[in-house]
Formats: sequence, C-alpha cells, structure tokens
Amino acid sequence: MSIIIIHIDLKYPNFHVVYIYMKQSQLFTKTRKEAPSDEVSKNAQLLIRAGYIHKVFAGGYTFLPLAVKVLENIANIIRYEMNAIGGQEMQSTALQSKEPWQATGRWNDAQVDNWFKTSLKNGTELSLAFTHEEPMTLMMKNFISSYKDLPVYPYDIRSVFRNEARAKSGVMRGREFYWKALYSFSKDKEQHDDFYEKIAEAYSRVYQRVGLGETTYKTFASGGTFSQYSHEFQTVCESGEDTIFIDTEKGIAVNQEVYTDEVLADLDISKENLTEAKAVEVGNIFSLADKFSTPIELSYTNENGKPQSVYMGSYGIGISRLMGVIVENMSDEKGIVWPEEIAPFTIHLITFGKNENIIREAENLYHDLKNAGIEVLFDDRDAGPGQKLNDADLMGMPYRIVYSEKSLEKGGVEITKRESGDTEFVDPERVVAYFNEG
Ligand code: ATP
Ligand code: MG
Repeated sequence: MSIIIIHIDLKYPNFHVVYIYMKQSQLFTKTRKEAPSDEVSKNAQLLIRAGYIHKVFAGGYTFLPLAVKVLENIANIIRYEMNAIGGQEMQSTALQSKEPWQATGRWNDAQVDNWFKTSLKNGTELSLAFTHEEPMTLMMKNFISSYKDLPVYPYDIRSVFRNEARAKSGVMRGREFYWKALYSFSKDKEQHDDFYEKIAEAYSRVYQRVGLGETTYKTFASGGTFSQYSHEFQTVCESGEDTIFIDTEKGIAVNQEVYTDEVLADLDISKENLTEAKAVEVGNIFSLADKFSTPIELSYTNENGKPQSVYMGSYGIGISRLMGVIVENMSDEKGIVWPEEIAPFTIHLITFGKNENIIREAENLYHDLKNAGIEVLFDDRDAGPGQKLNDADLMGMPYRIVYSEKSLEKGGVEITKRESGDTEFVDPERVVAYFNEG
C-alpha cells in the first residue's frame, strides 16, 4: 500500500483582502490639526482630521484605507445577517438603461428629482444608479417563471449616486454613498410578510452589532401608495435631519411625517408617553407589492397554472451613513471612539523614546499580536509622545498600548481603553493572553 502525501500551500487562505497589521510609518494618510474650513459636519471633520476620508466636494468623499476597513467591517456584519436569512450577494451595474424606468414612470425627472444621468457616445441615455428596483425587476424575468423559483433575495453592496439638494451632513448624506440594498421576490403577501418580519429582526441585530443597538428604533414611516406604512430604522442623533417620537416603553418610534395621522391608535402607541428626538435614518424596509412587477411584467405561474405578479419588497442600509452616525455619537473632545466590532484596528500600539531594546520588544509584541490574529496599528513613527498620544485618541482604536521605559517601571505595558479611559499595567508576556481571554 502506498501513501500519497499532498502538500497544500495555504499561503493565501482567503479571498478577501484583509490586512491584520499595519505600521503607521507605512500608512499613507496622516492626521491633521484642522478640517477644511468649509466642512461643517462633525463626522466629516473628525474623519478628515483622523485621516479616514478625503473631501473632494460637498457630498463627495474618498474613503481612505482606514475608512475602507471600517466600511468593510460594517458590510461584513450586514453580509452575515443577510446571508443568514437567505440573502445572496451579487453586484449590479452602476450604469443603467432607461427602459424599465420608463415602464414604471420613474425615468421622468419630475418623478425622481435626484438623478445623475449620462449617455453613450451613440446618444443612448443611461443613468447612474440611485437605487435598483427597476433593473433588478427586469433582470429577474430571466430567472423567475414558476412558483418553484420563489422566494429569492438578491442583494448588492455597492456605491450609488444621488444629486442631493443639500449635502451638509458629511458622510451621512453623500452624493455618492456606499449601501446595502436587498430586493425580495415572493409568491404572495403571506410569503412576503414572513420575510419582512425576518429582515426587520436581522436589521436589529446589525444595529446591535455595530454598537447602535441602544439608540436605534424601528420607526413607522409613510408607505407610499401601495402600503400604509414602511419601517425606518432611526438612530437618535443631535445632528439628525429627521424628527421621531419614541415610545420608550415599547422601544419603537413614529416618524414625524406620519405622526399627525389618526392611525396612531392602530399602531398601539399611546400619545402621552412619546419622547421627541432628532434622528438619522440608518436603514429602511419597504413592502412594494406589485408596484414594479406589474408594469415590468415580472410574473410567475402559480400552483394552479395561472400567471401571477411577483410580490416584492426592498430593504436599504446606508453603510457610509452608519460610519458617520457612529462618529457623531461615539466621539469626545479628543476624537473618535470606535466600537470594537467595526474599529479598523483593535489595538493602537505605541512606543516612545530612542531605547533600542524597548523598540525591539515593542516590535516583537506587535508581531505576537498579529500572529494571534489581533489587529494592531503600530505607531513606529519617529515622533514625540504628545503627538502619538493625541493621534491615538483622534483615530479612536478601542485599546491603546504604550510600551515605554516609564510603563515598564510601573509594571509592564500600559493598556488604556479608549471609551472609559481605564488603564491597567500588564506584563508584556501576558498581553496576547489578555486580549485572547478578555
Ligand atoms: P433620506 O430620507 O435620508 O434621504 P431615503 O429615504 O432617501 O433617505 P432610501 O432611498 O430608502 O433613503 O435609501 C436607503 C438607505 O440609504 C437610507 O435608509 C439611508 O440609510 C441611506 N441613504 C439614503 N440617502 C443617503 C445619502 N445621500 N447618503 C448616505 N446614505 C444615504
Ligand atoms: Mg433621500
């Protein structure tokens, strides 16, 4: 009997570009003292100063390496929760043909006031996506013909474009922004309603995991012509553009736009107990019924052999808006305070001074942490303690580790939690275990 040993080289064990370590001297972005004088929003001011984003024009921001890490951390949480309820990720085009929009009457600028449109060299008109209901409905005609093909839940994570009239809220209202949009295709209202409840719960888990669970409310909002209500997820935020009324006992809210409606009683919300608050819409879920499937003629053959319109819904989450809301709500006079699950790095490791032994030991600790799978930004720059500590506070990683002569005199490395400012001295040998064991 012969035994064949196959050697598999796992040099590239995963297809996502994940860097779990970084030396700050190699990071091309730098912190800056002042944000541009025309930038009025707190989230963009902090993100610019901390080197996460670059402002190109009002509502147009380049996401730099640190912001890409935050956005992908948020996107990965959303991916996990969408896949868990049957979502399937795809990638739509940002350029769209006009035909399906003409079928629903939305190509008209009077119907949609925030289009960016363009054309091919031969004159064919195209649009830059502000959403994908129409092209998605048209595409699904290729894949849905029978009740056996339903339900299906495709979703995109990508940038979309809106010619917003006002762009004063930094990354919370971009003219180009990064979002998740899922579209549901169901047989009938019953199958749709079942999914609608599931995705509402998945949304709550997303907001919980990104650190906004306590301040985000499922909120009744207007439903348009085809359903009485839709639901928004609104995060309480001083600079929010929306006003909501919160029933704190029930943990739900009503958007001001439907508040005056007599249907409040139907919602089982008592008027006396409502608290008014400014809020930001961080996501929404919408029942569409046959609003798109009838004009675009997306139908299927039901169990009785009869043609029937597909019952649809659409569900958005503003990923770059979420990054902005988190910065608005989780920051102090020194800078950003990232929640651990979405921080670009868990640890900001800092050394001071010229003692070569200490620099070498700090570098060893950096390698040990990264080998243990813990994400570390290592400030190896030739800069003074003041600058390094201020930058760490501004950039907002959840833990700061100072490895210095002074810290060693006090018993080890100094570990400080960004959120509380609580400090502990830990033997350098014990640091990996400290993070692995919590
Ligand atoms: P708003 O009322 O704030 O303009 P909307 O009702 O136009 O939002 P949708 O079209 O339903 O929002 O988009 C879905 C989600 O995308 C929103 O819940 C929000 O989180 C996000 N979003 C919408 N517009 C923007 C924008 N300009 N910049 C960043 N995120 C946005
Ligand atoms: Mg809008």
